[in-house]
Amino acid sequence: VKRIGVLTSGGDAPGMNAAIRSVVRASMHMGIECLGIRRGFNGLITGDITSMDFVQTSGLIGRGGTVLYTARSEEFKTDEGRKKAANTCKLFGLEGIVGIGGDGTYRGLLEFSNQEGVAVVGVPGTIDNDIACTEYTIGYDTACNTALEAIDRLKDTMQSHERCSVVEVMGRHAGHLALYVGVACGATAVLIPEKKIDFERDVVEPIRAARLAGRTHFMVIVAEGVGSSYDVAAKIKEYTGLDPRVTVLGHVQRGGSPSARDRMEATYMGYNAVELLAQGKTNRVVAMQKGAYVDYDINEALAMKKGIDERVYTVLRALIGAEDKLNI
Ligand code: ATP
Repeated sequence: VKRIGVLTSGGDAPGMNAAIRSVVRASMHMGIECLGIRRGFNGLITGDITSMDFVQTSGLIGRGGTVLYTARSEEFKTDEGRKKAANTCKLFGLEGIVGIGGDGTYRGLLEFSNQEGVAVVGVPGTIDNDIACTEYTIGYDTACNTALEAIDRLKDTMQSHERCSVVEVMGRHAGHLALYVGVACGATAVLIPEKKIDFERDVVEPIRAARLAGRTHFMVIVAEGVGSSYDVAAKIKEYTGLDPRVTVLGHVQRGGSPSARDRMEATYMGYNAVELLAQGKTNRVVAMQKGAYVDYDINEALAMKKGIDERVYTVLRALIGAEDKLNI
């Protein structure tokens, strides 16, 4: 392999730049030239490609967002779109692609490799941590910390006014971010899409228990996958007479300088991706399982399923007083 390209695709995540830097520098170290493909798969179709070297990647490790931009490309889902992309690869002499993104990005890489024979490797990058084959996705730790910091600030003011807060946390269809942040902020209740919600049991009872214990401020965390946090607030008002204030954290959770963990994961995973291409491998995704770096066939990775961490959920419920006391 003489020349490869790197792209970021789907939603952005803190640490994507650190991954780009790692891919470019690992390539150079292994005697491979690495070009930057801008705007996800769109750049592959239009030839929006830039050279990347040591200097261009300096200072990238701590920068949020992605300097290569990211996009969703409908055209890449068509045979003709991927044909154009293959022509771009021919023109630039690209023999392999590292795609940093989520499951959709992996699907795109797989289709491209099957149709055009270009080697591909995926790197997990999303704040949602919703990629089945890996315990960890680049951006998750930073997003958790960003959400937590915002919630801590909210808590200060809400506490002063003795109010109930309803905070909507990102995560698409998954509740990993909300669950983790809910535990870390000491929430009164946490609603996630993976668990069927019994409003009385999961929200009203914990609020009542907290009130009986003397609390006058309540923090209810809602994963965006559950539905509207305004509906949750209206229901709390109906059931309890409290007048909750809603905060939708939104895209602030996707920004910011990556945490130490995200910089490390991005750096390792980027390096591992290039190593796979250098070894002549294709259709792989890099991942983490039981704390170790591994890689999977893309087909296998896409067929995997992932639930929330049940242990974390159990501990959360025990600590908010939602579970029956153990007789030990
Ligand atoms: P996130 O989880 O942050 O949204 P993602 O990678 O899952 O990231 P998607 O928008 O689902 O984001 O996918 C990114 C891009 O991958 C799509 O815009 C499209 O260009 C490409 N893609 C997705 N599925 C396919 C497919 N079946 N065939 C070809 N390309 C695809």
